[in-house]
Parts: sequence; structure tokens; C-alpha cells
Amino acid sequence: MTRFLDVPALSRLVQDVGLPRFLRELTQAIHRDYLRWNEFDKSARLASHSALGVIELMPVADARHYAFKYVNGHPRNTGRGLPTVMAFGVLAEVQTGAPLLLSELTLTTALRTAATSALVAQQLARPGARRMALIGNGAQSEFQALAFHTLLGIDEIRAFDVDAAATAKLVRNLAAYPGLRVIRAASIAQAVRGADIVTTVTADKTRATILTPEMIEPGMHINAVGGDCPGKTELHPDVLRRARVIVEYEPQTRIEGDIQQLPADFAVTELWRVLAGLAAGREHADQVTVFDSVGFALEDYSALRYVYALALARGIGTDVALVPPGEQPKDLFALLAPRATAIEGHALACAAGAIGAIDRAARADATQAA
Ligand code: NAD
Repeated sequence: MTRFLDVPALSRLVQDVGLPRFLRELTQAIHRDYLRWNEFDKSARLASHSALGVIELMPVADARHYAFKYVNGHPRNTGRGLPTVMAFGVLAEVQTGAPLLLSELTLTTALRTAATSALVAQQLARPGARRMALIGNGAQSEFQALAFHTLLGIDEIRAFDVDAAATAKLVRNLAAYPGLRVIRAASIAQAVRGADIVTTVTADKTRATILTPEMIEPGMHINAVGGDCPGKTELHPDVLRRARVIVEYEPQTRIEGDIQQLPADFAVTELWRVLAGLAAGREHADQVTVFDSVGFALEDYSALRYVYALALARGIGTDVALVPPGEQPKDLFALLAPRATAIEGHALACAAGAIGAIDRAARADATQAA
């Protein structure tokens, strides 16, 4: 059987564990898997572009587990009452190909993206960072704010969105966390001024310049999350040129990240090398660092394995027959005549036979009597 986690089941699971603990453990799981980088069969995700968005498939595997995610990105969806990003995915056993888990991944994507951002910032942000600008206050924003609060001790968020209602929603949702002060900024420049970390998490299918060079101060760490598709960027190219840039999986980020604006030989460093101690993170206090985040399949693999273990341990979710049960592996055809129906059919046939026999006997009796 395959464990199935829909959106209510996943939110129950996170509430059961507690969001801070969930974010901490998920970050640790992602960290551990990045340290096993060479054990994975990796590829850039497969993207199907259309005028309004993109639909992507993201596979990855090691010797034990195979994972994939289906995810879209349609920035105008919110105007139609749908999220910009929606996702689901599967964790399967490599030895047999059997699917172990089918899960919602919309909430999980927000959680794993925030966890990855925090993991990178732990390596790159200046020690003692407390203030973060948060540009783009949509679906991902609370997750980003809380991951940085929980894992880096960020206690002040300067929020800005072109949609004032999105910022009001962020302020409302974060009011439950008294250790985190949220200040509404009047502009991007005002939000960014004096920040230790700047997170950009906007959605627009365009080459936007959310951050321009004059906004950037020495020592800032930029967590650029929203530029994740060809023709969809957030940073002025000079911001990148003047920074140390960290990426997840270089072949994918060259196509999708903000660095798509720069020549193919522009130097970037893959995250796993920094985590493994093979490359430096921040090199000096005044250096500007950029995480050019696009989202890599390995983070979904880590998240799927983490939620699968939690779901089994806590008895959350349901078991579904997503693939045929193993009792008669060569008799697939038998599944077209489910047992209950067959038995029912057999009983009806017996009953019909019995009625026929009674009928015939009665007719024979009548003939004899005549
Ligand atoms: P969303 O539509 O819910 O929110 C995006 C917000 O950005 C909206 O409130 C919108 O008003 C705001 N915005 C757009 N242009 C802006 C501008 N110029 N200045 C300020 N605000 C602006 O989307 P979401 O689910 O929060 O996703 C945000 C972005 O993050 C998307 O681009 C998505 O593709 C990306 N994303 C990346 C990853 C990753 O792993 N890197 C994962 C998930 C989502």
C-alpha cells in the first residue's frame, strides 16, 4: 500500500510536530542529503512553458529512494483564486519501484524552500544577523520569515509588497509570534536599508529588478527566491556581478536562476561544496553574498523522506491501493472482476439456477398432476 498525505493530513502533521521543530528537522535532513551529493542521480528539471506559466517535473534518486515532484508556477493564478505554486510528489523504493508515499507538496515546498534558504544563510549571512527585508509577501513569505526567525535568530522583518493586502496578511499571520517584529515598509529601498539579510520572493513572469546595485550595502546576504524560470528574474545583473553567488545545482540554475542574465562562465559555487567544506561560504565581513535559489529536486527528496517517516510514526495519512496489491502479481486481469462483485455474481447465478430448478420441478409436478 502507498501512504497518502493530502493537504489536511500534511497540515495536521506539521501542527502535531510543531512548526519550529519541523523547520529545524527538515533543515537538518536537507543538510545531511546535500552532504551525500555524489550519491545522487541528478538532472535539471523538465519544464513545459506556456504564455502564463510553467509546469515542471523534478526527479532525483539515490540507491534507495526515487523521488519526483510535479510543480507549476503561474504568477497570475492568484487573480483566479488559485495559488501561484501548486505541487504534489512521490517517494518510491528503487529496488522494486513501488511507490511508498504520494503527498501534497504545496505546503511542503514552502517549508523546504524556507528551510533551504535558512540553511544557506547559516553559511553566508554575517554572524549576528537580526534584521531581514522581505520583498514579496505572498504564499511563501511567512515560511521564509519563520525559518529565518527559528534558525538564524532574525527578530525583525521589514516587509514590502506591491499588494498592500498581501503585507497586511503577513503581518496578521506573524502576530502569533511575539519574538518577531514585523514592520511595513513604504518601498523596497526602505525595507532593504540597514537589513542584514534581504529575501526577495516575488512572483512576476518578467525580468524584474527588485534589487538594484545602489540598494545593496556591504556585508548583506541576499536570498533571491523568486527568480526561478527563464525570463523571470529579480536582481539587476550588477548585483550579481559584485557578489559571491551560491547555487543549488549549477546546470539548472544557469537556465532558471538570476544568473541566466550573465555569461555562462560567470563564477558560481554549488551549495554542497560549501556545506562539505570544499569551498568557502562568506569570505569577509563586507562581502555581499547571494543565494540564487531556484529549488532543486534533492530538497523535495529530503522533504518526502522526512514527512514519510513522520506520517508512519504518528499514524497520519491513509494507505491507498495506488498500485495493485502483491497477492497475484501476474493476474492483473483478475482486478477487473473484483472479488466482492464476483462472489455477488456467483451467488446471483446460484440463486437463479435454484429458482430455475424449482420452476422446472413445479412445472413437472403440474404436468404429472394433469
Ligand atoms: P504569490 O503569488 O503567492 O506571492 C508573490 C507576491 O509577490 C505577491 O503578493 C505579489 O504582489 C508580489 N510581487 C510581485 N511583484 C512584486 C514587486 N515588483 N515588488 C514587490 N512585490 C511583488 O507567490 P509565492 O507562492 O509566494 O511565490 C513567490 C515566488 O517564489 C514565485 O516567483 C515562485 O515561483 C517562487 N518560488 C521559488 C521557490 C524556490 O525554490 N526557489 C519555491 C517556491 C516558490
